[in-house]
Amino acid sequence: MKTRAAVLNAMRVAGPYAVSKPLAIEELELDLPGPGEVLLRSKAAGVCHSDLSVINGDRPRPLPMALGHEAAGIVEEVGPGVADLVRGDHVVCVFVPSCGTCAFCCEGRPALCIPGAAANGRGVLLSGSRRLSCTPGEAAAAAGAGELNHHLGVSAFAEYATVARQSLVKVDPDIDLKHAALFGCAVLTGVGAALNGAGLRAGDTVAVIGLGGVGMAALFGARAAGAERIVAVDLSPRKLEWAREFGATDVFLASDDNVGEAIREATAGGVHHALEFAGALPALELGYGIVRRGGTLVTAGLPPPSTVLPIAAVGLVADEKTVRGSYLGSCVPARDIPKYIGLFKRGLLPVDRLLTGEFRLDEINSGFDQLREARLLRGLVTAF
Ligand SMILES: [Zn+2]
Ligand SMILES: [Zn+2]
Repeated sequence: MKTRAAVLNAMRVAGPYAVSKPLAIEELELDLPGPGEVLLRSKAAGVCHSDLSVINGDRPRPLPMALGHEAAGIVEEVGPGVADLVRGDHVVCVFVPSCGTCAFCCEGRPALCIPGAAANGRGVLLSGSRRLSCTPGEAAAAAGAGELNHHLGVSAFAEYATVARQSLVKVDPDIDLKHAALFGCAVLTGVGAALNGAGLRAGDTVAVIGLGGVGMAALFGARAAGAERIVAVDLSPRKLEWAREFGATDVFLASDDNVGEAIREATAGGVHHALEFAGALPALELGYGIVRRGGTLVTAGLPPPSTVLPIAAVGLVADEKTVRGSYLGSCVPARDIPKYIGLFKRGLLPVDRLLTGEFRLDEINSGFDQLREARLLRGLVTAF
């Protein structure tokens, strides 16, 4: 069948993207779902930094690639062997498919799934298949036999997507799919970093560094968990304003001189947990520096592969500091997405407030400009 999709043919194209158009809207051939796969009609797909990191080359991926990894949609058709989803079901996409049988899946850590990570690295679905290709005639313009790579097993900047069953979590139809989409990446990663990564407890003091959609979701998670002080840090004054509206008790501009010292002073020696989402060395260094003795830095930002964090090792011992990574919010998506949606419905995770822009598929390049310029918390493509 045919689908229109946003395709990245080259990384590191200079902006503004509305002019240079790194994402081309192409009509592609989409295979119907094979065994264990599902055809999805995309209803909302998030403009997320992890797509931007592929566009700007910070996280290189095999090209050409159909982007879009934070999404929700409606099941159109199921492939052979898919017995627990039917046409019309509402689903949220998860950007790490988990096989359910590898050592990490068995330990309850599906974010670390070995076949899932391998498939994502190669740009294929969990089965090893690629289901997108250029239409005949255009095939010569693309690599190989005209096949395109999938982004994180999802590729939902498209009318339709064929994905592995293991890339989906079914949700109740009473949640707006625009809101549901956010649970697949921003909410899972941010709230999960606060609740699973940091293990926040009521009364704790927490800092959130990097206030995009993921960081703001973490702020909501910290608030829901009963954090007493929530320190928000970003380079953008506008985002600090938003953070205040969302419940931050203290805000700090990351570019201010001696910001680390100011935070340590404001929090009587530092925070219990610093949650880092900026994916940049200064943010990591600040996070480690403002963690109090016995505290934890949870890092969920994704810096370029060459970034190295230098820390004085003695602090790990003498100050009992912990540095912990968190991917996919250290979540079990099938467990945590319904749980976090429940908190959303009760008003404890107001993630609908993250939605600050909606775009048509053919406006997607300017959506990424807005993300780069810190004018969006979360934008969604909602018209395909
Ligand atoms: Zn696995
Ligand atoms: Zn994302």
